[in-house]
Amino acid sequence: MAWEYLQPVTIRFGEGSVGELEKVASELNCKRGLLVSDPFFVKSGLAQKIVAGSNGVLVDIYSEISPNPEVREVDACAKLIKEKKVDFLVALGGGSALDCAKASGTICFTEDSICKYHGTGEVLPKQHLPLIAIPTTAGTGSEVTCVAVLSNKELGKKGPINCNNFYPAVALIDPELTYTLPPYMTASTGIDVLCHALEGFWSKGHQPVCDALALHASHIVFQYLRIVCKDPSNREARAKMAEASVIAGMAFTLPKTTSSHACSFPLTNMLHIPHGEACGLTLDYFARINADAQNGRIHEFAKKLGFKDMYEMADAIYDLKKEIGLRTDLKEYHLTDEQIQDLVDGSTHPNLYNNPVEITKEMLQEMYQSMR
Ligand code: NAD
Repeated sequence: MAWEYLQPVTIRFGEGSVGELEKVASELNCKRGLLVSDPFFVKSGLAQKIVAGSNGVLVDIYSEISPNPEVREVDACAKLIKEKKVDFLVALGGGSALDCAKASGTICFTEDSICKYHGTGEVLPKQHLPLIAIPTTAGTGSEVTCVAVLSNKELGKKGPINCNNFYPAVALIDPELTYTLPPYMTASTGIDVLCHALEGFWSKGHQPVCDALALHASHIVFQYLRIVCKDPSNREARAKMAEASVIAGMAFTLPKTTSSHACSFPLTNMLHIPHGEACGLTLDYFARINADAQNGRIHEFAKKLGFKDMYEMADAIYDLKKEIGLRTDLKEYHLTDEQIQDLVDGSTHPNLYNNPVEITKEMLQEMYQSMR
């Protein structure tokens, strides 16, 4: 078995580490930056506070970013980057703000719309602005990945762009920034961490370094996600989930995600289920489908986490979702046969083909029918 591991992002982790931003920027020799921020932090005033405290290094804020960022938002951010003539970006927010910054920090070197590169296979230019990524959810792990997931509402399309340009220069992870996440978003983003770990582990592109990271992150999720959902101000649990998030990010970025992420795209597009919850919805289903694949290594993973086998772990995932208030079916949508077919068709994203077991359209039909 041959493999290669690469992780070019400097990771700085710790409570209060957002206060080191100016120092980090100066170490990168960055002089004039734009803050790309989640609208929540503009409302809360933190974005303005960070700009005010930057000694003039940050010159403006771009914050028109929706959950599941839109291609037009990336283009608008790139336009502001050009106008302000900045030499680096700081992204403050969940995966949506981080992904918007990653894509706009590259597209700003062209006259193109990001649409030219979204789901088209067109290769992005190599030039990009250095990015300091400050995640506020735990989470996507976007601060250490080379992925930007974008949506194009007009075309009804959501999907990732993978590009080495998208690795941030520095991930500044301050668990305190997640304290304001409401319980539902804590649960939804938290289950995404488990999806990253598990999918990175059973992906066809799995490899030993990412396996170890996946195990570490999964262990934390089972230990702390319940706690942080019940007691959002639990500092230890918040910090451990922030740790799991970044580590799961490293567990999946090279092997890539699989079936649950492929299914999440139409679930979010059509039914507007937030990303993490959409991924988690099918995780226990695919855990059962994949359990016996890869010569027993998937059961071994479950055993290392204290379960009898992957079937028992799939039950535990289901129970965890119920307990933290996430959906375990799609009953509330009263889906028509046509909608089920649209979900099936929309799930045949390339990530589906990283799954260790071949997933046919009939299997997807059966899965979505069972959730109805
Ligand atoms: P998000 O960034 O979409 O944010 C969700 C909501 O939470 C928003 O309303 C936001 O304003 C709010 N929010 C964020 N942080 C907050 C905080 N600390 N306090 C209060 N509110 C806060 O959520 P997300 O799950 O982090 O990101 C989802 C996006 O990331 C999706 O588009 C998904 O496809 C993508 N994603 C990217 C990667 C990657 O590697 N690039 C990996 C997984 C998912």
